[in-house]
Amino acid sequence: MSTIATLCNGNKTRGSSFDLSSFYTEQGAYAFSKKTPVNSTAHQNIPIAKEKVDNVWQTLLSQSLNPVKRLIYTHIPFCATHCAFCGFFQNAVKKNDTQKYTDYLMKELAQNVDSTLVQSTPIHAIYFGGGTPTALSAKQLKQIISFYKNHFPLAPDCEITIEGRILNFDEEKIEACLEAGANRFSIGIQTFDTKIRRSMGRYASKEQAITFIEKIAHYNSAAVVCDLMFGLPGQTMDSWQTDLEIVQNLPLDGIDLYAINILPNTKLAENIASQKIVAPTPEEIYNYYIVGQQALYNVGWVQLSNNHWARTTRERNLYNLLIKQGADFLAYGSGAGGRLDNYSFMLARSLEHYYAVLDEQRKPFMMLMHNQQPSWSHQLQGQAETGLIHLPHFLEQPSLLQPLINNWYQSKLITDDSFHLRMTPSGRFWGRNIYMALDNILKQIIV
Ligand code: SF4
Repeated sequence: MSTIATLCNGNKTRGSSFDLSSFYTEQGAYAFSKKTPVNSTAHQNIPIAKEKVDNVWQTLLSQSLNPVKRLIYTHIPFCATHCAFCGFFQNAVKKNDTQKYTDYLMKELAQNVDSTLVQSTPIHAIYFGGGTPTALSAKQLKQIISFYKNHFPLAPDCEITIEGRILNFDEEKIEACLEAGANRFSIGIQTFDTKIRRSMGRYASKEQAITFIEKIAHYNSAAVVCDLMFGLPGQTMDSWQTDLEIVQNLPLDGIDLYAINILPNTKLAENIASQKIVAPTPEEIYNYYIVGQQALYNVGWVQLSNNHWARTTRERNLYNLLIKQGADFLAYGSGAGGRLDNYSFMLARSLEHYYAVLDEQRKPFMMLMHNQQPSWSHQLQGQAETGLIHLPHFLEQPSLLQPLINNWYQSKLITDDSFHLRMTPSGRFWGRNIYMALDNILKQIIV
C-alpha cells in the first residue's frame, strides 16, 4: 500500500492511501487486460439543461477564454459508401444535396465569426473530417476553406488538413483545396490489399491507391499522410508487412498506424457475432503494432505520437497532437464535436435538425456539457501521447509511485526506473492505458 500526498502546480491535494498494485502489469501483449479506447476519460461530462444552452453559448461568445492553443474542426457528414468497420457513417452522398449543406455550413461559419470568442485567439490548425470532406465539389471545398482564410484569425503557419478518400478525389478538387490554402491531405487507405479493401467497402484497388498517393504528392505543395489499419479480417502478418513496405516506397510525409476498433452496429461487428469472420486476438493486434513500429523506426521515420509517424519536416500532425494536449477547438457542421474552456459540445447529427436550427439563427447544438477534465489531466494525456511522462511535473513526491514505476519497468513498458517515464515500443502500444492509470491515481489525490 502506498500513500500519495502532494501534487505540483498549485493544485490542492489530500493524503490518500490506495493499493498501487491494482495498476501493476505483465509483460507484452497482455500487460493490461484490454486496450483503453481512444476517447475514454476518467472525468465525467455533465450535460447543460436544454433551456440554458443558448445563454451559456452567448456568454462564451462574449469572452476571449484562456489563452490556450485554438483549433477548428469542420465536419462533412457524407460518404460514398458505408465502410464495414465504420461507426461514423451519417448520410449517403448520392441521396443528399451537398450544395444545400455547404450553404448552411457557410451560414454557421458566418454566424458568430465577429465574436470576441472567435477573433481573440489565433487558430493553429483546421481539420476537415467526416464522413468524407472530398464528397463535396471542388467549388464547395474552395468556398469553405477560403472563408476560413479570409475571416478567421489563422496563425501564419496554420495547418489546414483535408481528409479524403481516393474515390471521387480528382485533380480539380486537389487543386481547389491547394489554391484555397489547404496544406495537408490525410488519405484513408487502411490497407493496400485489394481483396481486403473491397471486403471493407473500399473499392479502389491497390494499384489505384498507389497511383493516387503518387499523384497528390506530386504537387509538392502540401503534406500527404495516410492511415493503415491492423487487425482487419483476412489480414496476415505477411500482408501487413507488404503494406508497410508499400508506404516506405511512397512519397508520403506521415502515416498513422492504428488497430481496428470493433464498433457496435457495424457490419464488421455483425459478421463477428454471426461467426462469419473471427475477431483478431489481443496478441495479434499487439504484434502488428510492434512490427509496424519497428519497420518505420528502421527506415528513419520519427514517431510523433503513439499512432503517428513523420518522415519529412513538412509533417507536424499539429491538430491531433494539440487536441490531446487540451487545446480548445471550435466546431462546425452537422455531427461535429468541439471543446471550449470547461465546456464540450456536439452539433445536431440530423441534417433536418441542423438546417432548422440554423434557420432560427442559432448554433445547432445537440448537446452542451460541462467538461470536468482538469488541465493537469490534459497535460498528462499530451505527454503520454508523445511517449514521455515527467512525473515531477505532476507530483512533488514522485517517489511515492516508485513501486508502480518498478513494476512498469519490469513489464518493459518504460525504458528505466526514473521519474521520467520514457515508454518502450510496448509502452507506446499501451500508452492510453498508462495515461488512464496515472489519471486515476492523480484524480484520487486532488481535492
Ligand atoms: S470510414 Fe470514412 S468513408 Fe467509410 S463510412 Fe466511415 S466516415 Fe464514411
